[in-house]
Amino acid sequence: MPVIMNEYQGRKPDEFRILLGLEGHPDSRNIKTYIEKSNGYKALEKVLKGGMSPDDVINTVKASGLRGRGGAGFPTGLKWSFVPKGPGEKYLITNFDEGEPGTYKDCYISEVTPHSLVEGKIIAGYAIGAQKSYIYIRGEFYNEIKWCEQAIREAYDAGYLGENIMGSGFTHHMDVYSGAGAYICGEETGLISSLEGKKGQPKLKPPFPAVKGYLGKPTVVNNVESLAVVPWIIHNGPDAYKKFGTEKSPGTKLFNVSGPIARPGCYELPLGYPLMRFINEDCGGLIGGKKLKGLIPGGSSAPILTAKECENVTLDYESIAAAGSMLGSGAIIVIPEGVGMPDVLENLMDFYSHESCGQCTPCREGTGWLYKMSKSILKGNATKADFSRINTVANNMRGKTICVLSDAAADPARAIIAKFAHEFEPYLKG
Ligand code: SF4
Repeated sequence: MPVIMNEYQGRKPDEFRILLGLEGHPDSRNIKTYIEKSNGYKALEKVLKGGMSPDDVINTVKASGLRGRGGAGFPTGLKWSFVPKGPGEKYLITNFDEGEPGTYKDCYISEVTPHSLVEGKIIAGYAIGAQKSYIYIRGEFYNEIKWCEQAIREAYDAGYLGENIMGSGFTHHMDVYSGAGAYICGEETGLISSLEGKKGQPKLKPPFPAVKGYLGKPTVVNNVESLAVVPWIIHNGPDAYKKFGTEKSPGTKLFNVSGPIARPGCYELPLGYPLMRFINEDCGGLIGGKKLKGLIPGGSSAPILTAKECENVTLDYESIAAAGSMLGSGAIIVIPEGVGMPDVLENLMDFYSHESCGQCTPCREGTGWLYKMSKSILKGNATKADFSRINTVANNMRGKTICVLSDAAADPARAIIAKFAHEFEPYLKG
């Protein structure tokens, strides 16, 4: 149970802004606005001119309890601490692939406050000893590429990037690299391969990127949101950050809501916020008086929750895991009564079979079979035995592959057929 859930009663999401403080400002992406209205580059100054060592920065982020916001929720400071100390080339890469269906929070950060990302990257680069960093961004994000490039240019012009930043002796350079739009390049080793100009396919771990990553050198890959919140944490301190959220899931997080609801969009919420209060009050509920059938809480790889299961869930890693799903990227997909679960299954499996990179047999064949079986159900060609085979196939896809795409397809399939079997029956022969 979240420790400060009662404090949320009566308060609105815009009272919990850490990252989106500049939302609604007409010129929020401009470096001048960021500096004047958002304490911009104060955290970098504190680090480089205030005598913080790289270890001080890592320990501050560790103390904040910040967990990676890309989906896995791995502690960010701990990830940084895995990079070997001492001289030598090291790299920092921002994962801005944002391909998980339902997710558009990183795009929103670049639209509202791209300098939070740039400043967070410079601080993270200092912490791990990287003189070079990249923003790896999905190629079709034309505006977002432009906004990131503009912010980087402004940071160079202001002396926050380049050689000997603020006379500190620390040098950091930054570039944007646009990918070609494969979902699997959101997986960190696939992303690194793509950045190296190779086919974007995941690799077996170990070795982990922190030891052998981009060009064989120690590399940290962090999600956009994880890095963009770092300046706030450094500037305000880890205790201020921990005033938001729960004991095990501190801080705020961006949530994207899509589906037939009155106010879809991107919201910043403290972790531990009650899910159904968010949907019904802050997002205005389902349109047309529709009833909720189910909800995907963390992007398409998160197993679906039924309306009943959603009732007591709070938006944090532990509560959603206890309900049988995962917080993932924080993309909430609302599914109303009237939408058929056989259609939802077919739609999801179409996506995963298309995006499997094909290296591992359980994933390559399994995602294809799940798609074909779900299509055959919709066409009325499947038997009851075929339906139960979905579970067998999905069970054999889990934990046997190089990356987790296979599990990401199997888990939602298993949840849908287990929780909504009655909806499939009318389609089945025999
Ligand atoms: S699990 Fe799937 S996507 Fe991941 S490496 Fe294997 S085949 Fe490729």
